[in-house]
Amino acid sequence: MNRLSDRINALAPSATLAMSQKSSELRAQGVDVINLSVGEPDFFTPDHIKAAAKQAVDDNFSFYSPVPGYLSLRQAVCEKLRRENGLEYTPDQIVIGNGAKHELCNAIMALVNPGDEVIIPTPAWVSYVQMVNLAGGKSVLLPSSMEKNFKVTADELEAVMTDKTRLIVICSPSNPSGAIYNRDELKAIADMLARHPEVMVIADEIYEHINYVGHHESLAQFDAIKEQVVIINGVSKAYAMTGYRIGYIAAPLWVAKAVTKMQGQYTSGVSSIAQKAAEAAYNGSQDCVEEMRVAFERRRNLIVGLLQEIPGLELNMPDGAFYAFPKVEHYYGKRCGETIINDDNDLALYLLNEAHVATVAGSAFCCPGYIRLSYATSDENLREAAKRIAAALAKLA
Ligand code: PMP
Ligand code: GLU
Repeated sequence: MNRLSDRINALAPSATLAMSQKSSELRAQGVDVINLSVGEPDFFTPDHIKAAAKQAVDDNFSFYSPVPGYLSLRQAVCEKLRRENGLEYTPDQIVIGNGAKHELCNAIMALVNPGDEVIIPTPAWVSYVQMVNLAGGKSVLLPSSMEKNFKVTADELEAVMTDKTRLIVICSPSNPSGAIYNRDELKAIADMLARHPEVMVIADEIYEHINYVGHHESLAQFDAIKEQVVIINGVSKAYAMTGYRIGYIAAPLWVAKAVTKMQGQYTSGVSSIAQKAAEAAYNGSQDCVEEMRVAFERRRNLIVGLLQEIPGLELNMPDGAFYAFPKVEHYYGKRCGETIINDDNDLALYLLNEAHVATVAGSAFCCPGYIRLSYATSDENLREAAKRIAAALAKLA
């Protein structure tokens, strides 16, 4: 008998984490899988950050931390927002959570009532829709396309708004497409939102530093809507700290207070040691961030070049993040032996079984017809993966 709540029964597992798990299981069985499924930097956390974590242990940062995070870390985040983004926030507007994922979910829980509509441009990261489901809200998907470089316009957003719209989620640089909204595009969205002061917007800026086209533009820079914007960010991607689990919101005070209240009942303040490490990340030298960005850019050029050579794959040059998102519809209806490719899920599975390369189907990002490859891995892995993918696809007829 299923005794689970409707809430949990309606929740889909994370496809990115599921594919990564599948690839680890195959690896454990001795299969030489190249894992391009999960999006996480392959670099080790920089030494000065690791040293701060070790020091925190020795300094006995072992007690409950304040629910919204240490003041010193929230001050470091404010300083980062001022230095890098020209944004003014006070520490009471910052809440530290267990990764950006936690703060996203907290913000959605704090803002969305059952029945409220949340506009999510697609392709979209796997967890947004599920988080909206958890809050009892209704996701309104707004599809984009490769031809529009996977971006939506202010007009398109406004056209799907109703009197139930409560929230919009904008992810730039985008997971999975790598698209980046430029200042003019964000300004147009901000001007539109200023006409709808009851609508909030989550700006997921977790890939801020993995940008190949210039300086990051934050949606919070437009004063007219600053009270409507909740910035999501963290140390996972920029500082190769996915396992430390530190993310934050920078938000209007009433949202920060609500999220703090929720954390007080639900999770408490996050790991004291990880917070001290994150503080060192924000306060220390930023050279490591640029070194990793340069490596990601080289890898992007490599993998996109190799994938573009494969007949039947179509893809844009991503401007940021560390994902390639090729269209794979060309292979629909083709077969290899008993295996028929009917959709992107079939193709991702075929690549795993036949090429031993783990990817994620575009359907998981509400964008069927594509697959996502994370290129946050070595040049050698990328070359080998592209070779295997090309060989496996060539077998489909
Ligand atoms: N937003 C997006 C778009 C992401 O790709 C990720 C990566 N998992 C997150 C949020 C969550 O990041 P974190 O690891 O800090 O929870
Ligand atoms: N953001 C990464 C991804 O999309 C990490 C996995 C996850 O949290 O979903 O692959």
